[in-house]
Amino acid sequence: MATDMAEATTAAVLEKKDNGVMPEEKKLHVIFVLGGPGSGKGTQCEKIVENFGFTHLSAGDLLRAEIKSGSENGTMIENMIKEGKIVPSEVTVKLLQKAMQESENDKFLIDGFPRNEENRAAFENVTGIQPEFILFFNCPEEEMLKRLLNRNQGRVDDNVETITKRFRVFSESSLPVVNYYDSKGKVRKIDAVKSKEDVFENIKLLFAPFIQEKEEVEVGSLN
Ligand code: UDP
Ligand code: MG
Repeated sequence: MATDMAEATTAAVLEKKDNGVMPEEKKLHVIFVLGGPGSGKGTQCEKIVENFGFTHLSAGDLLRAEIKSGSENGTMIENMIKEGKIVPSEVTVKLLQKAMQESENDKFLIDGFPRNEENRAAFENVTGIQPEFILFFNCPEEEMLKRLLNRNQGRVDDNVETITKRFRVFSESSLPVVNYYDSKGKVRKIDAVKSKEDVFENIKLLFAPFIQEKEEVEVGSLN
């Protein structure tokens, strides 16, 4: 009885937070960050986070964390990553949705997702979210290959054999998603072959609408 009361009180308090607006009613802003493997998505996402207050969700990182957590899907995910294949949408969408629900933020960079039409449709159906825009890193394979082989992050898929498969999956399955959004006028294409700083200079311009929150502290130190 006493426990029931305590639980009821806690629930009431939780509901009152945020002026009674439950987290699922919060309008979420999502930007999909797409580009081939090694095109610089993760590097630039870090800079966007620092400067514009977004939360960075790398689909690949979430899948790698899922493997480490000893999840029942771990072996399947690991095998797919080693082969450069796309993990079933059900798994990835669930991980992304959970990460958004657990975050207090309402602005997300979703990096390396959606990788095919099925990913895109599943995300839309499950979350009901339409991306604000697609940040697309345009980079030739030759440059991406060079970066992937130099980065030494100990990844099981950064070897020439898997990289070749990832390039293929990217052009056959992921580029059609970019083209789909392009036909809706949602793609913002960035030349990814320049230095990190120069690439970010171009990205900054696209994020002007999101500048307000960090303006006071960051305005003099955008880097
Ligand atoms: N992956 C996937 N679905 C995703 C994101 C990643 O199946 O939505 C898998 C896929 O096998 C991919 C690997 O994870 O090749 C690495 O993805 P990540 O985004 O980390 O690498 P990137 O291609 O950006 O270098
Ligand atoms: Mg990445």
